[in-house]
Order: sequence, then structure tokens, then C-alpha cells
Amino acid sequence: MADGPSRRIQVDLSGHVALVTGASRGIGRAIALALGRAGATVACVARNEEKLKETAGAIEAAGGKASVHLCDVVDSAAVQSTLDAVVAAEGRIDIVVNNAGITKDTLLPVMSDDDWDQVIAANLRSVFLFTRAAAKVMMRQRSGRIINMSSVSGLMGNPGQSNYSASKAGIIGFTQTVARELAKRKVTVNAICPGFIATDMAEALGPAIIDEVKKRIPMQRIGEAEEIADAVLFLASDSANYITGQVLTVDGGMTA
Ligand code: NAP
Repeated sequence: MADGPSRRIQVDLSGHVALVTGASRGIGRAIALALGRAGATVACVARNEEKLKETAGAIEAAGGKASVHLCDVVDSAAVQSTLDAVVAAEGRIDIVVNNAGITKDTLLPVMSDDDWDQVIAANLRSVFLFTRAAAKVMMRQRSGRIINMSSVSGLMGNPGQSNYSASKAGIIGFTQTVARELAKRKVTVNAICPGFIATDMAEALGPAIIDEVKKRIPMQRIGEAEEIADAVLFLASDSANYITGQVLTVDGGMTA
């Protein structure tokens, strides 16, 4: 696109407090930066302290406010104390983006119990833990946004990803039910299904598989993390006040 006024979504989230899991790199980092640029105070959550500090530093360098929280998102006590620390420091929690996730791809016959358990825990249990902790505060506030990162693999099958697909489809069912439970308190709960996005997770597949995947994308390109961050900004904004329990797919037409 030629230089000129940006046509990307502009949202004012000043005064809002956001928490982003998996903010140390990839899509989570892009989401944290976008929320920070929009004026939100951003709690950056993951396990890699150095990379989290880098994300928080980039938010602050752009004039925003951020904090770093080391937390393994599968650890119930750690999740609760992370949420408590953010609420104690900022007085509220407005936006939670459950983005942390892992893959352990392998075909079913050779998938180990650990491959299954670790992916379900990191991708699905984590969403339950942070949503439960945040919901209690958001229900009291009578406002809040919960945005869960699912995947196109949760909408359609993908050989080698039975554990991952199950976790991401689980996120969709969880999102729909919790949306119904929290709607009366003006807390919205939505999911985003990214297609194939350029991050470490996608790189790990290797160039041959990446080329194969590109052929299945009608737009014939891999998505950018910022394109997922834009979807988050929309769902976090007042423009999405009446949207809950929905799945927003951002995949270049892959599942069309
Ligand atoms: P990524 O580059 O591999 O980053 C994953 C993030 O999750 C890292 O920040 C990592 O932080 C964090 N994380 C993983 N396990 C964690 C744990 N136990 N506790 C705390 N943090 C943990 O992945 P990505 O591509 O940005 O993906 C982000 C989300 O989008 C994931 O849920 C993924 O499934 C989803 N998604 C990605 C794509 C894609 O094509 N990239 C497509 C569809 C959906 P630490 O290692 O520092 O803890």
C-alpha cells in the first residue's frame, strides 16, 4: 500500500487494563504492542523474562505502559496470583487475551500421552484458568472483554495435529458457553481463529510444509501477526459491544 493515512483500525483504549498471555513473541507480542499503542496498560505474560521485557520495553518506548509477569499458564496458582497482581496494581482488568499456545505435532499412532496432555494443558486448560480468574473481577465490574486464540485447526482437521485441533476446538465450545454465562454482566467472550501466520510456531513446520500450506490459502500468502492484533483491537473496542460467543476467522480465505 502507498504511504498515506493508515487504513488500519484505530481504537482508543486509554484507561483500560489488558493482559496478554504469550506476549513474549509472535502473535501475542503483536497484540500486546497494538493494545499498548491504543492506550491500554498491558500486562505481558509468558515464561521467557528477557523476551517479555523486550515486549514491555517496546510498548514503553512507544509511550505506553506495560508490566512483565512470569507465569506458566498451566499452573492454576500462578495464573490466579498473576491476575491478582495486575488487579492489585491497576485496580481493574478490562481485556484478557488468552493467546499462549504450543504445538506437539505427530500422527495419532505415535502420539504420546505427554504430547496430548501438554498441548491440551497449555492451549485449553490455560484459557479456562485465566478466564475463570478474570471473570470474577469482570462480573463485579460489569464490563470486560475476553478474547481466546483458537485456530483454523479447531475448525477443520489437520493431519498430525489431533491434540492441537482438539484443544483449539475446545476453546470454541468453551468460548460459546462462557459468553452465555457472562453476557448479563456485560462481559463479552469471543474467539479468533488465525490461519497460517508468520511466527516461530509456523516457522517450525519447515519450508516444504510452508509452501504446501500457501497453496491452500486463496490469498496465496501467509498472514502477519499484526493482522491478528487488528482483530483483537476490534473485539476489544466499543464497536464490538454487541458481539459475544463468536468466532472471527482471519485466514486469507483458507476455510472459506
Ligand atoms: P509462538 O510464536 O510459538 O509463541 C507462543 C507464545 O506462547 C510464546 O509467547 C510463549 O511464551 C507462550 N507460551 C507457550 N506455553 C506457555 C506456557 N506454558 N506458559 C506461558 N506462556 C506460554 O506462537 P504464535 O504463532 O505466536 O501463536 C500464538 C497463538 O496463536 C497460539 O495459541 C497458537 O496456537 C495460535 N495460532 C497460531 C497460528 C500461526 O500460524 N502462528 C495459527 C493459528 C493459531 P514463553 O515461551 O516465553 O513462555
